[in-house]
Amino acid sequence: MNDEYDIVIAGAGPAGGQCARDLAARDYDVLVLETEPESEFPRQSNKSTAGTFPSMMSAFGVPGDVVQQYTDSVVLESPNDHFTRDLSGAVLDFAAFKRWLVAEARENGAEFRFDARVAGPVMEGDEIVGVRFNGDREVNAEIVIDATGPSAPLASELGVSTLERENQAIGIDYHMEGIDLDHEGYGDLHDAMMLRLDHDIAPGGYSWIFHTGEDTAKVGVCYIQNERHREKAKSGMTIDGYMQHWLDTDPRFENASKIEGGEVLRGSAHIQMPGRMHTDSFMAIGDTVPTIDPLWGEGINKCMQSGRAAAIAVDHALTPAQPDTSADRLSVYEDLWHEQVAPKMKSRLLMTEILYLAPNDRYDRLMTDLNRLDDETLSRANDGDKAAIRKLLHLSDIPELLSWAKRRLRDPSNRWNPA
Ligand SMILES: Cc1cc2nc3c(=O)[nH]c(=O)nc-3n(C[C@H](O)[C@H](O)[C@H](O)COP(=O)(O)OP(=O)(O)OC[C@H]3O[C@@H](n4cnc5c(N)ncnc54)[C@H](O)[C@@H]3O)c2cc1C
Repeated sequence: MNDEYDIVIAGAGPAGGQCARDLAARDYDVLVLETEPESEFPRQSNKSTAGTFPSMMSAFGVPGDVVQQYTDSVVLESPNDHFTRDLSGAVLDFAAFKRWLVAEARENGAEFRFDARVAGPVMEGDEIVGVRFNGDREVNAEIVIDATGPSAPLASELGVSTLERENQAIGIDYHMEGIDLDHEGYGDLHDAMMLRLDHDIAPGGYSWIFHTGEDTAKVGVCYIQNERHREKAKSGMTIDGYMQHWLDTDPRFENASKIEGGEVLRGSAHIQMPGRMHTDSFMAIGDTVPTIDPLWGEGINKCMQSGRAAAIAVDHALTPAQPDTSADRLSVYEDLWHEQVAPKMKSRLLMTEILYLAPNDRYDRLMTDLNRLDDETLSRANDGDKAAIRKLLHLSDIPELLSWAKRRLRDPSNRWNPA
């Protein structure tokens, strides 16, 4: 390992891996520091159910051999109803996918150092010039990138990304077998990714079943542990407790069990409007920002897109005859993030807050409306189109919306607040 690189990236997740892959392809000297040992990689960071869509697969050339299961539909469930939409997707083997990204970046010329825990920035005056890792080891770079997900050791010390604890969503996922995927009264979940809105299972969040072939599926629960979650939650119940409660009460799991040797995945992401994402010689990408789509938790595609946007900004800074890594020059990254990576973040945060706070009976009515409306209107609603969203609202929603608006006004510090 040298002690001087063009770019040092902390974290070999989807964001850091893709950024390294793009930069190495353009012949920059890139070093990625990853905290986990290579022999186990990824273990703790193997946290994602990894449902994704063809647009991501083709944009990043993801090969079929990291796909666990191709899917044909997305199913939304409420406590007593469901809605099925034909939509192609893929459930990835997240560990294989992460290893594939590392192999690709290496093939392009990027260097990886595993077992390298990044602790903080090396500063010269006010400017970051490198990274401290594994105690007192240091490495220098023209540009440093934090892609460590929610741990954000560099971004937080530089005051760039302010991930708020009360906006942290936690998730858990079991790989299970013996599931009845076409149980009477429920949607057919063969070759499907299903998301369930039901506060008895995931208060203030959602749960899911993603089919992975035969009678197996990834089964998970996630929610934000904020004040609103506590309003709907059972006292003292942990996320493991909610998962168990679902497994105990849903008839589809009557004969189901965890796949032997299958991992229990756990992780978190912040559901909030990002603040500043860069400064002189530094960018924060992926869920360090955070970049995950708040509404349905699609993080892999978004985080890879942010890695790609950061790679473009590096090019912008380092290709001129007089390289310029100032915040001003790197601001192209934030522009790309807001214009292309997550252009509708504000409206999606609003939709998220309204959706996950609605009462259970309102979810049943939502399914009726979804089944009534045409595909185009639904696509527009999902994209944040106000006219399309209005078609999903009713007069009886007004009291709930007013009380939601009042709560927001009382709590202007709420970081969901995109105002
Ligand atoms: C339970 C769960 C289910 C999910 N399901 C889906 C899904 O179905 N589809 C989807 O698209 N998204 C899903 N997501 C979201 C998606 O996984 C994330 O948005 C995405 O992984 C974030 O990518 P990232 O590269 O920004 O960060 P991460 O994936 O968090 O990667 C960060 C990397 O940095 C390393 N690291 C951390 N700290 C340090 C340090 N100090 N020094 C060096 N390295 C460090 C970690 O080991 C890791 O390899 C899910 C998330 C969770 C938690």
